[in-house]
Amino acid sequence: MTDLARHVAALRERSPFYRDKLAGIEDAPFEALPFTTKDELRESLAAEPPLGRHLAAPAEDVRRIYSSSGTTGDPSYIAVTQADLEGWTEIGARSYAATGIAPSQRAVLTYNSGPFVAGAVLDAWARIGATTIPVGSGNTERLVRAFQVLATDALGCTPSYAIYLADWCRARDLDPAGLGIRQIAVAGEPGGGERATRELIEDAFGATVREALGIADVSPSLWGECEEQAGMHFCGRDFVYAELIDPETDAPLPWEDGAEGEVVYTSLRREAMPVVRFRSRDRVLVTARPCSCGRTSVRVRCIGRTDDLLIVRGTNLFPSAVREVVAEFRPRTGGPILIRPAHTGVRQDVPPRVIVELGDGERGDEELAGAIQVAIRGKLVTSTAVELVPYGTLPRSEYKSRLVDFSESLER
Ligand SMILES: [Zn+2]
Repeated sequence: MTDLARHVAALRERSPFYRDKLAGIEDAPFEALPFTTKDELRESLAAEPPLGRHLAAPAEDVRRIYSSSGTTGDPSYIAVTQADLEGWTEIGARSYAATGIAPSQRAVLTYNSGPFVAGAVLDAWARIGATTIPVGSGNTERLVRAFQVLATDALGCTPSYAIYLADWCRARDLDPAGLGIRQIAVAGEPGGGERATRELIEDAFGATVREALGIADVSPSLWGECEEQAGMHFCGRDFVYAELIDPETDAPLPWEDGAEGEVVYTSLRREAMPVVRFRSRDRVLVTARPCSCGRTSVRVRCIGRTDDLLIVRGTNLFPSAVREVVAEFRPRTGGPILIRPAHTGVRQDVPPRVIVELGDGERGDEELAGAIQVAIRGKLVTSTAVELVPYGTLPRSEYKSRLVDFSESLER
């Protein structure tokens, strides 16, 4: 019996959810076990509130209950034991050490202590030995003061917040580069790995941007990008088993250079809510060549979340990829975009409207809109209808940016 098979066998003993889900396939090889989806965990929570049939530890051992910050559906609860928290701290320390958070640093953290799991990053930074200044979100004035007064040099936030912060400073005649930020660790949404978005943040602050990635149902951090800035290393070894699959055929894919697929996680040590073959819905591009930093694990770039995916006349369209193409037109275009599909649902037969904000002081014309449309079609093989709006029109986010808006879409 392999370690994985032994692990799954033990899980059947303590998780009612997996006892039922894996009934009758006791002898199946690990790769033949069914995937677990977020929807199933939601159903499990609803079937046996409040913590669900997938709670695999005694309720009195649960130390914290977080909510997931998913972009779809109602929030769902994530329970962790003390040992689970320690596992998260260890993986988080590895991930954020890769992103450059170091013992010598003073670092501002913008994630609130709850309700989302990102708050657990505070423990990881403490494990590294950095001096952390937890500011939370929605507190930009206090954050700027921390940089001005406390000789702070690092920042942890979402890419959206970094962009928001740069705009906030400029609107007050403060040069973001004057804050003294040298290192920015971004996480929580795609964007930090997009070249144009990263350059925008790096140029604004005169800082280095590196990315981390996790998933609420597995671990707040699992991947961290090293100084090569060419993707995030897997940092969950011994705690989490990661597979790559083809999301269309569900077939396993090798972790090899250039491979593209969805990451699937199996927790190896989680006590409260372990998962087997959990579909992350994160699409990644793999780099497997050796890295100069000495870490031997594979690296990934997140291409997008399946949750945001639109299929336009049969072609996959990730909104974050549209934002990346639009960013090539800076400074004529500004930061935010918003995609307004004609109909509700994933599949679209009409080119979606892409609302593009102009750069500060820029004026739009038909020619610019046309050029963006051509660039999107050229790079993403998708037709869209680009509309330009003045700088400052679209909402700014201090947490995660919404890229698709169905509020004006027609029901089918
Ligand atoms: Zn590396």
